[in-house]
Amino acid sequence: MLGLDSLTDNDKTRYNRQIMLWGEAAQRRLKAASVFVAGAGGLGCPVSTYLAVAGVGQLTLCDGDNLELSNLNRQTLHPDQRLGQAKAVSAGLSLRALNPAIKIVTYAERLDAGNIDRIVGRPDIVVGCFDDFAAKYLLNDYCLKRQIPLVHGGVWGTVGQVAFFQPPETACLQCLFPEPLPDETLPALGVTTGLAGCIQAMEALKFLSGIGATLTGRLLTFDAEEMFFFTSDIERRPACPACGGHS
Ligand SMILES: [Zn+2]
Repeated sequence: MLGLDSLTDNDKTRYNRQIMLWGEAAQRRLKAASVFVAGAGGLGCPVSTYLAVAGVGQLTLCDGDNLELSNLNRQTLHPDQRLGQAKAVSAGLSLRALNPAIKIVTYAERLDAGNIDRIVGRPDIVVGCFDDFAAKYLLNDYCLKRQIPLVHGGVWGTVGQVAFFQPPETACLQCLFPEPLPDETLPALGVTTGLAGCIQAMEALKFLSGIGATLTGRLLTFDAEEMFFFTSDIERRPACPACGGHS
């Protein structure tokens, strides 16, 4: 009998081009993996798309919003005819169509302190695609407490950022953002969220497959308008209310 992470003939064909890159053992690690994607919007769509088609065994998505017309310039899992529907449900439909061989679990709920244990559970890695800081901090605290790696992403217009936090070794999201940024509607281009989301997905795939080096403890910033990419180290803040007591 095949183990849970054994590759079927179908898997070997479906993932052939990436098995050429990293071998069957890495593909089996992806198949055995579980990823929590926080949000099914501008970042969550590319993140979950590329994790799904790469063959991550279980994807869990959470998003409490319904699809609005102004989302459609960037949220590519959602077709026009699903306007008004829950984004989590819409994303689940599209992802299952892309790859019916993996397990996709969706929650059309807003993440809060009361439901986070039930919804997030114990994934191998969390990919943060929320835009509001209350939810970002909540997820950061959860990942710190359970020592789950967190891939952060954010965008503003043509500028994007990605960071990889590995508790307890690195700084955390609240070291990077000690205060929440104002809650406001920001300019957003689909290409920018696509770029940032693809980089987040790549970080998750490298961590899960064991191939390559992640942005551990570093922040990647790009400005697509000038096509300028750079990375910087993220300093841990000893007084950080989230991780200050962990070091
Ligand atoms: Zn911190």
